[in-house]
Amino acid sequence: MQLERALVAFAHPDDAEFLCGGTVALWTGAGTEVTYVCATDGSAGWNGPDLSREEIAGLRKNEMRTVAEMLGVHDVRFLGYRDGALEPSLDLRRDLTREVRRVRPDVLVAPDPSRLWSGRTYINHPDHRAVGEAVLAVVACDAPTRPQFPELLDEGLEPYKVRRLWLSAEEGEGDQVVDIGGTIDLKIEALAAHQSQIANMDDFDAEGTLREWAREMAAGTEFEYAERFRTFDIEF
Ligand SMILES: [Zn+2]
Repeated sequence: MQLERALVAFAHPDDAEFLCGGTVALWTGAGTEVTYVCATDGSAGWNGPDLSREEIAGLRKNEMRTVAEMLGVHDVRFLGYRDGALEPSLDLRRDLTREVRRVRPDVLVAPDPSRLWSGRTYINHPDHRAVGEAVLAVVACDAPTRPQFPELLDEGLEPYKVRRLWLSAEEGEGDQVVDIGGTIDLKIEALAAHQSQIANMDDFDAEGTLREWAREMAAGTEFEYAERFRTFDIEF
């Protein structure tokens, strides 16, 4: 599958690396131009009393730029919505539609909005669900529909139909398993470079945990490490 352009839409500055950092590194290594669109400002990503939201947002923006470069992603957009308050609003849909019509990606990657929890140990963040739901609305119907958001036509952004959508999937789920054996080290390095987030996690074995998760994703396949997706080839 030769991809010229991919767009990854997500809620928080470190989400893309968790969901698909290994896949993104594979794609950029093969010459695909990848764009990141981060919906929130990441300003709730610190629990200490010492930093304001503005300071946190600034830190995380810098971290995200650094990490994107590590993964070969040179086009990074911040939509600036308030972290922790994201909704699949018309404003968010318009802003995502703008990026989709600008980039005109061969594949759009996003979190699965139907994911409420995972196992017994993780409740999904509402911002993740919100951005996933907005992406579905952008794919069908906002981006390809001319009368939708006429202000984007004024910006010169013509309608665009996304043909390929990949939603992140869990272990044992999805129809696309990507072998990230060649990029797992880079994925781990990239996540470690979100230093404000690592500093939030006392005694957390980030590398061990990430390897374990990627191994679980690969279970039942010939791969050692994997990322999984539920994919759509959209015709209508
Ligand atoms: Zn997140």
